[in-house]
Amino acid sequence: MLRLYGMCRIFNLSWYDYPTPSTHLVPSPFFQHNTGMTLITVLPEGLYCEQGGFFIDPWKPVDRALITHAHSDHARSGSQHYIATKISEGILQKRLGINANLQGVEYGQRVKLGKTWVSFHPAGHVLGSAQIRVECGNDVWVVSGDYKRGYDPTCESFEVVPCNTFITEATFGLPIYRWATGEATCREIYQWWESDPERPSILFCYAFGKAQRVLSELCKFTDKPVYVHGAVHVLTEIYRQVGVKMVETIPVSEMPRGYKFTGDLVLAPPSAHRSTWMKRFSHPQTAFASGWMAVRGARRRRGYERGFVLSDHADWQGLIQTVRQTQAETIYVTHGQTEVVSRYLRETFALNALPLKTLFEGEGDIE
Ligand SMILES: [Zn+2]
Ligand SMILES: [Zn+2]
Repeated sequence: MLRLYGMCRIFNLSWYDYPTPSTHLVPSPFFQHNTGMTLITVLPEGLYCEQGGFFIDPWKPVDRALITHAHSDHARSGSQHYIATKISEGILQKRLGINANLQGVEYGQRVKLGKTWVSFHPAGHVLGSAQIRVECGNDVWVVSGDYKRGYDPTCESFEVVPCNTFITEATFGLPIYRWATGEATCREIYQWWESDPERPSILFCYAFGKAQRVLSELCKFTDKPVYVHGAVHVLTEIYRQVGVKMVETIPVSEMPRGYKFTGDLVLAPPSAHRSTWMKRFSHPQTAFASGWMAVRGARRRRGYERGFVLSDHADWQGLIQTVRQTQAETIYVTHGQTEVVSRYLRETFALNALPLKTLFEGEGDIE
């Protein structure tokens, strides 16, 4: 009993995170140290590779941190050295502080760390996002970070990376989650904006990733400028600097007092909703763009008039398809629907799949 409790603590799992070991495919927690996590383990600081001497997306300061992408649940400040993709450097410097010791690598570039070879591969999530491949002898592990399979004009498309062990996210790991294309959803956003020329249209969405995806897809429908909240503006400028094509944007703060934004589209982060910043707009129509808008009642609970289903995470099909394509025989599932996805993979494909408790938050209010 005590021993199992000890294992749970080491792997940062709680009792109920273990599936009932009902089939021989599920390793008993007692044997976790033999059959479970080897090349990468979970320590209190985060995902750790002892052979390479590094952490991946640690949630506490460490000596060497490999970062999958610049969302705040993955890129935390305070570590001594960071390694991430070159193209994410601009946004990471904003997140980690200008003095952060940051080494940028190209996608696919192999870096020797301790006894391991490490490389970063596109995750299709946001600008510069990566899956991290760790190779040690014949053993290959891939940590997915956050990822999606649908087309996104603002970032590199997801690359399937074959491996023995795949650590996948599962934010939207339920069969009810099935995404339309970004273009189809952004067409709806454009039509919603056009439908009310008498009022400002304020679309709330995460300032990093989602906002730029909308601004880029809107190029297909309009050449009118879009007004942006300061938080969106700063990140959009970084996207422009690396060559991402988007509609023209104007910071709301640059418009003269008294300007009414009648018939204009304004993009703002969810934190601006119900803040004093909203006083600039009289009787706007409001909407929220997020994967959570697929859930009945989520829009109303958050107080938006419209909801657009737009996510930067894989939907159910995308998750299952990706796990299969990696050909990994062992899968650890983090973020969100860890139980559902791991059970499905065990029961349907006889994979050795287990939920893994981490501090990643998926598409929470922070992203
Ligand atoms: Zn993310
Ligand atoms: Zn995440």
